[in-house]
Amino acid sequence: MLRLRDVWRSYRVGDSEVVALREVNLDVGDGEFLAIVGPSGSGKSTMLQIIGLLDRPSRGAVELDGRDVGTLSDGERTWIRLHTLGFVFQRFHLLHDLTAIENVALPLEAAGVGAVERYRRAAVLLESVGLGSRLTFQPAQLSGGQRQRVAVARALANEPRLILADEPTGELHSDDKARVIELFQQIHRAGRTVVVVTHDPEVAAVARRQIEIRDGQIKESSP
Ligand code: ADP
Ligand code: MG
Repeated sequence: MLRLRDVWRSYRVGDSEVVALREVNLDVGDGEFLAIVGPSGSGKSTMLQIIGLLDRPSRGAVELDGRDVGTLSDGERTWIRLHTLGFVFQRFHLLHDLTAIENVALPLEAAGVGAVERYRRAAVLLESVGLGSRLTFQPAQLSGGQRQRVAVARALANEPRLILADEPTGELHSDDKARVIELFQQIHRAGRTVVVVTHDPEVAAVARRQIEIRDGQIKESSP
């Protein structure tokens, strides 16, 4: 479903150029569970942001379902981000003034789902991640693991086929971590494609495939 073709990404910093990704080629099939590992600064987040259409390559192409997304309009890219992709971040990125159910309902609102239906669906999603009794709690009233489960529910709101996660257990303690890992396994078993960037060997171990990235290049692949 996803293909990177000779992707490069460089940043200009003052007079010099930082090359974050070089010549990255990658194919991810429907229903795969892929872990991207590698040292800090190796280009993992850059790669995930490009896959998630939050950034564009300096050179090369990203294809989703056979379409070169670089040729799409901003509106089409936004539509794909809303309906095809779900993003989970290390630091949750929840809106602090909103309750759990309001956070999960946001992408449904953006997709044009009416108020009654979006709160009904958001409640079902929060129940599915074990937070049915926390619907009206704000992020500050939840543990780190509970916040991350809200973020996972939000990422699933519009039933995306591809879930992207950048260090999703990076801020969590072991019990919380285990629950979030279990959630990603459930998402994969439900037939979705999962791409997770991680330092965490326990997360990488449950992925069906791992690639390692070093200095912006894919170094090894275990299919
Ligand atoms: P990782 O997620 O593996 O830790 P990143 O993808 O965040 O690595 O960063 C890869 C490289 O690109 C690093 O050398 C980093 O300093 C550089 N980089 C990332 N974002 C920027 C930016 N906005 N401007 C300049 N350099 C950046
Ligand atoms: Mg990173």
